[in-house]
Amino acid sequence: MRYHKAELFFFLLMGFVGLGGVFSWAAFSAASGGVVIGGIATSASFAFMALVLAIVSLACGLFLIYPVMSRSLRERGKFQEMTESLSVRSLSLEHAAVTDGLTGMYNRRYFDDALSEYLAAFGRIEKPIGMVILDLDHFKTINDTHGHDVGDEVLRQVAECLQVFTRYHDVLARLGGEEFAILSPNITERQLFNLSDRIRQAIAELKIKNGNVMLKVTVSAGLAIWDGTETGEALYRRADRQLYEAKRKGRNRVCAA
Ligand code: GH3
Ligand code: MG
Ligand code: MG
Repeated sequence: MRYHKAELFFFLLMGFVGLGGVFSWAAFSAASGGVVIGGIATSASFAFMALVLAIVSLACGLFLIYPVMSRSLRERGKFQEMTESLSVRSLSLEHAAVTDGLTGMYNRRYFDDALSEYLAAFGRIEKPIGMVILDLDHFKTINDTHGHDVGDEVLRQVAECLQVFTRYHDVLARLGGEEFAILSPNITERQLFNLSDRIRQAIAELKIKNGNVMLKVTVSAGLAIWDGTETGEALYRRADRQLYEAKRKGRNRVCAA
């Protein structure tokens, strides 16, 4: 078994203290006419030895044990700080891996995982799940006319609007570009249509300021309700087909399967 330096110093200190105790006892015995070790010692010489040992013990504690102890405490503190900052960083990396930097919404990766989990969980209790895909209309024109930064601001405001309208257990994500999706469990097609249409109206009523100009933006949406057996991908394709229908019929509208 290997001892740490501080432990060895500690044993040394204990030895000195123990010896000091023995000499103090001997000094006391000699002074009171009791046991005298070696027959020649006087109480004064034992007391002197005890004093020397006390000073050596103090020096040992002060110059050997204390520096080792304080260094190891400082190192432990630094190590703790490092592990804490590493765990904070890994949490923020985890968060960054599933969110979109521009809007703060979940990204496609998170959405796909949530979709398969929701289908498994709600399939077991035989509850419906609805999916809505939303895509901004003529967004390229907004970028081309007002610039990319204004386009980004539009995306942020649309994202905020979507957050306001969705419920706690709905999964909301930016799938990419100007396309968003909502996964809404325990909802009928009529309810999902109404929710999507309220969102569409709210986005159409947004007034986004760019200098003196007020920008307007619209969105098209397609929705589908899970049939209970299809894959997440098949559900997405059906909702996407309805989005295509909404675009084809003139945009700024919701279409359902
Ligand atoms: P449609 O009504 O058919 O959907 O037309 P659209 O112009 O919205 O669609 P299109 O696919 O032609 O253009 C999408 C544009 O979205 C093109 C791309 O530059 C822009 N875009 C994608 N991601 C971002 C982004 O993060 N910020 C900004 N400002 N623009 C983006
Ligand atoms: Mg678009
Ligand atoms: Mg698009």
